[in-house]
Amino acid sequence: MHEHDTDISVVGAGPAGAWAARQLAAGGMRVALFDASHPREKACGGGITGRALDEIAAAVPAETLDGVAVEDASFHAGLGDEASVDLRPRGASRRRLLVVDRRSFDAALLEAAIRAGAEHIRERVTDVLVGSDGVRLQTNRRSYRCSRVIGADGVNSLVRRRTAGPLARADLSIATGYFVFGETSRDVRVEFVSAPPGYFWSFPRRDHLAVGACAQADAARVGPLAALVTERIRDAVRPGRQLVRYSWPIPSLGPASLAREQPAGDRWFLAGDAAGLVDPITREGIFFAIRSASLAAEAILGVADAPARYASALRREIYPELSRAARLKRGFFSGPFTRLLVEALRQSQPVREVMADLVAGEQPYKTLKRRLLATLEVRLAWRLLLLEMGVAR
Ligand SMILES: Cc1cc2nc3c(=O)[nH]c(=O)nc-3n(C[C@H](O)[C@H](O)[C@H](O)COP(=O)(O)OP(=O)(O)OC[C@H]3O[C@@H](n4cnc5c(N)ncnc54)[C@H](O)[C@@H]3O)c2cc1C
Repeated sequence: MHEHDTDISVVGAGPAGAWAARQLAAGGMRVALFDASHPREKACGGGITGRALDEIAAAVPAETLDGVAVEDASFHAGLGDEASVDLRPRGASRRRLLVVDRRSFDAALLEAAIRAGAEHIRERVTDVLVGSDGVRLQTNRRSYRCSRVIGADGVNSLVRRRTAGPLARADLSIATGYFVFGETSRDVRVEFVSAPPGYFWSFPRRDHLAVGACAQADAARVGPLAALVTERIRDAVRPGRQLVRYSWPIPSLGPASLAREQPAGDRWFLAGDAAGLVDPITREGIFFAIRSASLAAEAILGVADAPARYASALRREIYPELSRAARLKRGFFSGPFTRLLVEALRQSQPVREVMADLVAGEQPYKTLKRRLLATLEVRLAWRLLLLEMGVAR
């Protein structure tokens, strides 16, 4: 037996891995959490929705996080600056969105895992061997044995490649953009783009802006996407501003791939991006990373058959929503739909509320049509129905 035998190894200390390690260690397991990258920034907008904040509140209260609360900002959505949605909550609305930098957010989750008793091993995992008698991990320094492994190592997951198999290019989006240091604002901006089909965003952080654009990988290339971002931020970029460029893939699984997903097996589990769990329209991934980590930990701490319990929890709770979003996606960013949407946003406060809730993770796709119908935006709801049925683009 090796010096570092543990009950369970978690590969990757992003939101999924750090939160899984925290939950398992708090549940009494011996946990080794592998990640050599901290402290580090990650290519990300850093928008943390209320449901993600709720999921971690017991260990990492929102008040302790350093970020810009969108309650204090305005929110613009549209084609160019044609329409504007105000995300600030009205009355009893629960809508919340905190924009953080991933260096400090991920560090807060990692600290929570360590506080709960997880051992952080600052090594990069270079190979994983899942056998019937246990799991062997090879790192850049040595090898370890454990009885189970969680792959929380992001979109290019090594654990996934060694178990379920890699994500296909058709199941990825690409995102590229800049951190603009020396510039900040009070505005959250999201602009729909139909060529390539996706969106541009600008999120305000404490001391910089996170701006970028994303689109499905098989419909876009990084160069033109980056040019689109540069064009949108021309006015914000003045002498003395430092631009740090990033490009990174985002899982965006289609309905058929989601139906085929195998997120766990004998001795292994995948969580977060490694499990392909990102909303393919809004590209919200942090909530799904954290929630899948909670579900994996619950299954592992439960009585028996953890892989089957985890897979059925994802099938019950997460895949149906992602699948609805995936069915809507292609048409959602098409010219006819976005024009209709922007027109409705401009004219109707109830539609503005619905879209702001969607971006803030408060509006499920399951009830989107019904809620749009209630706004009397019948054309928009009808078009959404056609998109869902695959008879409109
Ligand atoms: C440009 C962009 C903008 C985005 N904006 C948002 C947003 O505003 N809101 C939102 O909710 N989501 C957003 N997302 C999605 C979000 O970033 C991801 O879904 C989320 O980070 C997934 O968390 P994770 O823990 O699964 O993986 P990650 O955050 O990718 O963490 C994986 C960790 O594993 C480590 N790792 C990888 N390989 C190994 C290895 N072999 N050994 C050890 N460690 C390893 C990495 O260093 C990393 O620390 C965005 C994504 C992109 C690309």
